[in-house]
Amino acid sequence: MISTLPHGLHIAMAASEAVPYAKTGGLADVVGALAIELTKLGHQVTLLLPGYRTQATRESRQPTMRFSIALGGKTVDVSVEEEHVSVTGASHRLRVLFVRYDPYFDREGLYQQDHRDYPDNLNRFALFCRAILEVLQVLADVRGEKVDVLHVHDWQTALCPVYLKARPHEYKGLRHLKTLLTLHNLGYQGIFSGQQFVETGLPPALFSPGGVEFYGSINCLKGGIVFSDAVSTVSPTYAKEIMTAEFGCGLEGVLASRLDGVKGVTNGIDVTVWNPEHDPCLPTRYMATDLSGKHVCKRALQRELELPILEVPLLAVIGRLTSQKGFDLLIEVIPELMSLDIQVAVLGTGDRHLEQQFIAAKARYPNQIGLHLGFNEELAHRIEAGSDMLVMPSRYEPCGLSQLYSLRYGTVPIVRRTGGLADTVVPFRPSTVGSKSATGFHFTDATTESLLSTILLSLYVYKEQETWQSLINTGMNTDLSWERSAKLYVELYRGFWREKGDS
Ligand code: ADP
Repeated sequence: MISTLPHGLHIAMAASEAVPYAKTGGLADVVGALAIELTKLGHQVTLLLPGYRTQATRESRQPTMRFSIALGGKTVDVSVEEEHVSVTGASHRLRVLFVRYDPYFDREGLYQQDHRDYPDNLNRFALFCRAILEVLQVLADVRGEKVDVLHVHDWQTALCPVYLKARPHEYKGLRHLKTLLTLHNLGYQGIFSGQQFVETGLPPALFSPGGVEFYGSINCLKGGIVFSDAVSTVSPTYAKEIMTAEFGCGLEGVLASRLDGVKGVTNGIDVTVWNPEHDPCLPTRYMATDLSGKHVCKRALQRELELPILEVPLLAVIGRLTSQKGFDLLIEVIPELMSLDIQVAVLGTGDRHLEQQFIAAKARYPNQIGLHLGFNEELAHRIEAGSDMLVMPSRYEPCGLSQLYSLRYGTVPIVRRTGGLADTVVPFRPSTVGSKSATGFHFTDATTESLLSTILLSLYVYKEQETWQSLINTGMNTDLSWERSAKLYVELYRGFWREKGDS
């Protein structure tokens, strides 16, 4: 039996993805790393994930729980597989529970296939949320384990606090449970037709402005914001931005109505996985005090991407190719950029239109653009290591991870001043250069002019060896570890009891 440690909390972390099991974006990095770091801090962590088809979720585990869930007029049989993961530096292991219902989760994609969302995503994740609560109930009733906090992430798990509050008679063993919802991206809210409401199994009264209804549709994220005990997001700047119509994606009013506000905790990165001194994905390793290996990585990357091996600045682009990321702005300035002596390495997947534009750009400038369309984690490491700069022209960016990896790999980030990009990259200015605190470049307007002039500025500074080295050094020595962020989350969890005085 697992019991809550002295002074420690038992935290259930529920999400639709987490490294190393399933990943489509930054959410997976955050959930996987936070679960490990909280374990290291001495807390008992139970990570709950859907049992997808992906390799890492299918290795000969035995089901340790089975139960039925009635949802949307049918009853389905769910099984739960269990794994215990050793965590270096922790006195106990991280428990990972996989919720299996193969008709929903044994599929090619996590949320979509061939660029189309699965039509039953509401049913899939409503079932997952119900199963999460059922698991916690079994832990409490059968194994005598009291989980203190349920930390849910994004719309896929946002219905957990809704079910918990709306069906208290079903979850009697979970009365003490506090819920925290972390918003990783307001652009994805889990909106479904109001006609599907009956399939959620929620009381009809909740299809109302005070519940999950939003302009006639179901909005899962909104439900989570209304019913969670606390809400946080992944950077202090984004926490402020989402209170405005420009960034709130329609939910700014709902967010503002929370009297306790929205806390901003900046993400860390897994500094053991993302470490140029020990990274097995790289052809050679390097460190801030000796960057010779970074030059080797650059030449190897040029070779891998079939670019000429030249001593020219190499600009990296990594991420989802969507308009959120502002890569359409980059496409527009490609002709100007290509008139300069530079190369661009692109790794991404996303909107078909943008993918096609990058394919066309590559065809036009084969000696200057290296392109890999698809998801390739190892190549992401090699691009972070082998490039000189990384460009993130995001229209909005809750936190952003690629710029953090860049800082760690001595690749200077050029970012739009928004959300976590504003919080994590110290902009090049006379004052920050003087104090040696600058780590990258900011631009404010989401325009091609601002983007281009900032890239040009970075290319100019690149030639100033001493200043460039200082940017690299400061970035590589920045503390980006999860420890700091995880401690802030623990503060949020403990705040439940401090505020309400019912510990
Ligand atoms: P978001 O979560 O909005 O997609 P983040 O910057 O927070 O953006 O996180 C993106 C993560 O996914 C980073 O770890 C980045 O390296 C990775 N990533 C994005 N696209 C790809 C890709 N095509 N191949 C490999 N890794 C990718």
